[in-house]
Amino acid sequence: MSDKYQPLEVEAKWQRVWEEEKDYAIDLQVAVGSKQPKFYAFGMFSYPSGAGIHVGHVKNFTLPDVLLRYRRQKGDLVYAPVGFDAFGLPAENFALKTGTSPQASTAKAIANYVRQYKACGFSFDWSKVIYTNRPDYYRWTQWCFLQLHKAGMAYQKESSQWWCGACQTILADEQVNGAGKCWRHDGADDPPVSRKSLKQWFFKITDYADEILEATPGLDWTEQVKAAQENHIGRSEGTEVRFSLKGLGSEERSLEVFTTALDTIYGATFMVLAPEHPLVEELANSAGNGAEIAEYARGAATKSEVARQQARVKTGVEVDGLKAVNPLTGMEMPVWVADYVLAGYGTGAIMAVPGADERDMEFAEKYGLPIIWTTKDRRFVAYKDIRENPKDHLLATDDDLDGLDMAAAKEAIFKKLKSAKIAEKKINYRLRDWLISRQRYWGAPIPIVFCGKCGAVPVREADLPVELPEIEDYQPAGDGRSPLAKAEEWVNTACPKCGGPGRRETDTMDTYVCSSWYQMRYLSAGDGDQAWDPAVAGKWFPVDFYNGADHATAHLLYARFFSRFFYKKGLLPTPEPFSRMYFHAKILSPSGGAFSKSKGNVIDPLELIQQGYGADALRVYICSVAPPDMEVTWDHNGVPAAWRFLNRVFALVDDYLKNKPVKTGGSTADDGLLRAAHRCVAKSGRDIERLKFNTALAAQMELVNFLYKRASEDNFADPAWQPCLESLVQVLAPFAPHLASELWQRLGRMDSVNLNHWPEVDQAYLKDETITLPIQVNGRLRGQVEVSAAASEEAATAAAAAVEPVAKYLSGSAVERVLYVPGKIINFVLRKG
Ligand SMILES: [Zn+2]
Ligand SMILES: [Zn+2]
Repeated sequence: MSDKYQPLEVEAKWQRVWEEEKDYAIDLQVAVGSKQPKFYAFGMFSYPSGAGIHVGHVKNFTLPDVLLRYRRQKGDLVYAPVGFDAFGLPAENFALKTGTSPQASTAKAIANYVRQYKACGFSFDWSKVIYTNRPDYYRWTQWCFLQLHKAGMAYQKESSQWWCGACQTILADEQVNGAGKCWRHDGADDPPVSRKSLKQWFFKITDYADEILEATPGLDWTEQVKAAQENHIGRSEGTEVRFSLKGLGSEERSLEVFTTALDTIYGATFMVLAPEHPLVEELANSAGNGAEIAEYARGAATKSEVARQQARVKTGVEVDGLKAVNPLTGMEMPVWVADYVLAGYGTGAIMAVPGADERDMEFAEKYGLPIIWTTKDRRFVAYKDIRENPKDHLLATDDDLDGLDMAAAKEAIFKKLKSAKIAEKKINYRLRDWLISRQRYWGAPIPIVFCGKCGAVPVREADLPVELPEIEDYQPAGDGRSPLAKAEEWVNTACPKCGGPGRRETDTMDTYVCSSWYQMRYLSAGDGDQAWDPAVAGKWFPVDFYNGADHATAHLLYARFFSRFFYKKGLLPTPEPFSRMYFHAKILSPSGGAFSKSKGNVIDPLELIQQGYGADALRVYICSVAPPDMEVTWDHNGVPAAWRFLNRVFALVDDYLKNKPVKTGGSTADDGLLRAAHRCVAKSGRDIERLKFNTALAAQMELVNFLYKRASEDNFADPAWQPCLESLVQVLAPFAPHLASELWQRLGRMDSVNLNHWPEVDQAYLKDETITLPIQVNGRLRGQVEVSAAASEEAATAAAAAVEPVAKYLSGSAVERVLYVPGKIINFVLRKG
């Protein structure tokens, strides 16, 4: 046994032991019958690129690993799955550049990831690893597609979509950035995306918009992610109003507008159509300036929605000869085509109210359009102000509604329009159906066959998977079809319905489809008979903890959509896939930017580990540098400092083993050692559960300092040294599992510190320790209070009730009950009424 801390030796030894003993493998089926609590957690799985993981990714997996290890030590049933999101464009583009098949380059990248993950000491269950690019996985991705198709939730439609000329594929709105460029081609030299019309497959996620939105506030998710989801769904309640038209033979037609600001209709002075609005194509031809309008619409098609909305200079073209009539003022309003109005929102047309809308105001000023002040303020009043303080503003018109406050005006205006049968209440969503077709090779084939007689026919479930054929030429066909279109032998097949000649769908699925259901497949990895076993899901679903630093909207919404769909089919116990979702902050490169291979600033965890610092030091640095939701810049001195701390722990135990009295036993001089140990255990557990890993480690470092001082005084004579050092090793284990395993063994313990070994806290030793207790009233955070860590419920309740402003909320209301989770939170539930 070496008397120096040798991380490389120690880590290799324990990784071997864990693998041989299968310490982290779990039988999910057997667990179904157990009453023990389960804990199922993981970070968003990796896309295996040639670059491998960098230290930022280590954080993504270390966070759940600390929790998983802690729960294993507490004796819970723990499942730490691992997998690879292995389809996608980069491997295909690499194939185009080098001729290496995506199969080969992906397999090579994955082998490197496995090496890196294992070196980091993540406690994954390697017996159940999944790869989304393998037929035994995508067979079930295709099965999911068929279930959605059967339910009418997967449909095909011709539509105009974003097209990246460099990727040669369709992009979802989320994949087009603010500058109107592709997410993978966003450099200064890259061209903007354009529009292209193709027949595409969609999933009807909008059917669930309302229920997903409704469930969002109740989720235990990072608040910003919940807000992003709500914003992405973008529900608004408003009114649809029909305006009559004049000129260009439009008298039979009308123009529908969705507005959330009906009370400003008296101020509407012109109308704006999005360039994609169907009227533009219909009427523009007959307008005197039809050519100009068509030219403008073509130009708009090359810009992204975000770029259009952010444009500093608004542009537009008036439709000569066309007017819309304001139903309340009778004003004949000019009709414009302008790209600051989007086709996707509402009806793709707006009533412009320059007196209450900044963008309409800018536009009116630029083109000299009329401006009417609709309120008695007789000035520009932003609608936000009217909406928030409707009683502070009075309607100004020449009719009977003149002088009403804006709250009353809104109602009265609606009544007027409703009785004229030109308005109804409407709910509008920003969320669109999910476009899943990709004109690319490296994805799961869509299991559909086109037959001249039968149309689009789903492949029979028994005939899955539709295997992705190996091909020679990865060059897209260029006409918008996938490279698969050239694999004639594969494309030509029999129609599953009539047996006649058919052609396979050559588009593949968006890789977000593969990652929408892996939280289910992890529960039945390798199962050849079903996508997942509902009985296993009954015990293990939903995921208890999920984390990531990206994909706040698309992926998480899609995963919620899938889980909800299969919950309704009775195959899952809950509609929500992730009980807790934690959005952690990224680690930035030392110069402050993101780590990226192209910038050459990537720090490979393997290199750091092999320099001699070891994985434990890397993990401890990542966990101790800051709370996980705080962005940090990589500090080259951080890992060496963590290594020095681990060295001190090693040396302390080594010193103890060499110098402890031959005969143990006898009595303790005082309870100083035990008090320090129990306080550290209590704080470590509390802080791990609250994801305050940095303060847990700070407490452990403080304990080590105290122990050094103590050792210099009593030279390990106190019999409490052994339990005290064991506790230290136990609480360190989630962060530095290799070193903890080694020291546990050296302290004479034969079993694994990683399983069923979290120390019990004796409250008696916590007497003089205080903690900060958050206080809620009816579930809302209203304050906090310092109490003794050993405080009784009565004492904690009394202290919390006295805190301002909690006292204010409690005064005059009857407390129905108090929910007290010792050491964590206190919640006063007030009686209603
Ligand atoms: Zn691109
Ligand atoms: Zn047929």
